[in-house]
Amino acid sequence: MADIDIMVCGICRKIKRANIVILGRNICKSCEEEIVGAKAGDEAYSRYMESIRNIFDNSGK
Ligand SMILES: [Zn+2]
Repeated sequence: MADIDIMVCGICRKIKRANIVILGRNICKSCEEEIVGAKAGDEAYSRYMESIRNIFDNSGK
């Protein structure tokens, strides 16, 4: 079954195909690749980690 979900990416806020869904928030493929490609300490890495932290923080409220 090809069940394609379209969700708002929790990081770039764009409407994307569901890729990694954490607590109901999507992380789109392009953001995932940027996270994977970013090194700890990179500006992009901290920005994405901050976004992921926000996803988890908001989920508990
Ligand atoms: Zn994204």
